[in-house]
Amino acid sequence: MLAFQLHQLQEIDTARARLQAEIHALEARLADHAAVEAAGQAVAAAKAALARARQALRSAEAEAEEVRLKIARTEQALYGGRVRNPKELQDLQREAEALKRLLAVKEDAQLEAMLAAEEAETAFQNAEARLQTLREERLQQEARWNGDLATSRQRLAALDERRRRLITTLPADALATYERLRERRGGLAVATVTDGACDACGAPLTPDLLRAARSPEALAFCRTCKRILYVP
Ligand SMILES: [Zn+2]
Repeated sequence: MLAFQLHQLQEIDTARARLQAEIHALEARLADHAAVEAAGQAVAAAKAALARARQALRSAEAEAEEVRLKIARTEQALYGGRVRNPKELQDLQREAEALKRLLAVKEDAQLEAMLAAEEAETAFQNAEARLQTLREERLQQEARWNGDLATSRQRLAALDERRRRLITTLPADALATYERLRERRGGLAVATVTDGACDACGAPLTPDLLRAARSPEALAFCRTCKRILYVP
């Protein structure tokens, strides 16, 4: 009877330990916002990169436009009829040619800047979509985790109540022995006997010890792992 009661207490405590671990794990998950925070930082970085890419594109466009204006002015001078000196005309011709080569370079740079800005735009949109997905997933997860947490806490409270009622029926010395063993034996103070052997460590029981383990009042202990023996 005493071993049976301690076995019941052990079952309650094992279930409590499992629930406490579940509750801690759920609380840790709920407190951990790292994934959404990282995605938010990625969005901020992508937004800054996009702003830089757009600025670079505006600069490239302005530089190309400036060269185009210079070409227009040079050609106006060249074909406007005011300059008649052949040397000056030749200089203007050379300048116009040099400016057109420069314009080709500037237009290449402008095209590259445009492609880079498009890529930055896509990267920014992807980062934002990822953040949105993670936020939605997180909301669903949190709802599920909070539900699980409430259930686990209710179960734990019910077990705590069962434990309080059970220990009032136990002798103080038996309870003290149980608590001491539970602390020293990895949370398991009571070992069930199956086929004449201790379930916890596997050691076989002598016939005398098996008889002692069946006693309703006195406790018997496994000779190998020292746990309280319970024969179902
Ligand atoms: Zn044992």
